[in-house]
Amino acid sequence: MLPGASLLLLSAALWGLSEGCWGTPGCRVVDMSHSLDTRSQKFPIMPDFHLTLLTRGIQDGGYWTEYYKFDTPEHISTHMDAPSHFAQEGWKLNEIPIERFMGPGVVIDIRAKAARNPDYRLGIVDLRTWEKRYGKIPDGAIVFLWSGWDVRYPNTTLFFNTNPSDASFHFPGFHPAAMSWLVNKRNISMIGVDTPSVDYGPSTTFETHQVMCKANIMGLEMVNNLGLIPASGAHITALPIKLLNGSGGLTRVVATFFQEKNCAY
Ligand SMILES: [Zn+2]
Repeated sequence: MLPGASLLLLSAALWGLSEGCWGTPGCRVVDMSHSLDTRSQKFPIMPDFHLTLLTRGIQDGGYWTEYYKFDTPEHISTHMDAPSHFAQEGWKLNEIPIERFMGPGVVIDIRAKAARNPDYRLGIVDLRTWEKRYGKIPDGAIVFLWSGWDVRYPNTTLFFNTNPSDASFHFPGFHPAAMSWLVNKRNISMIGVDTPSVDYGPSTTFETHQVMCKANIMGLEMVNNLGLIPASGAHITALPIKLLNGSGGLTRVVATFFQEKNCAY
């Protein structure tokens, strides 16, 4: 085969990988976002979400119309943390290169550990265990922590797992050492969690956020339906609103994959 032809085939294969399976028979699509409403979860420091009806009904011209306005913090429901959230020089939401919003999904199952210890932090050992089974974490990956926390959503007490005696939070997150390992040893675009934060509940210094943001890596928080997508082989698209200078924003996360391909469940 001519070198040019093989190059063409290679780029076609890579392109196929990058766009996922949508449009191909047997391709599944999963919505990985929670909806945005007054029950949407957020840290207590964030203001409430408000939806205001502006017009609804038959107008003078005889036609139906309705529209609303909404007032929302950036960091609520399923959303993306831009690097500028915890790094002064980091990309703001509108500055993130758009190709970073798409990539191969890596789902790391820590449900058993999280059930035993809600303050569990995903460690390097969990990344290595995944790699032993599925191979090296691919370039441009979106690496998810799957703790099973989405079933607690949107019950605030369960989701934040608040200790009533001192109002402290107890939910899993990424260990800063695992985040550093991903920054230094692999070439990923994003991490994601089904919990309220990429840092575990008791954190007061948000080290994982700091390491992540300084490396211009994005974080998805409060992701839904990780139990429906395979540990390896899904293609993820996570598109935040294009908020000028935003430190984060509401994000629709979608997975496409062949159910039988590399599916562990
Ligand atoms: Zn956030």
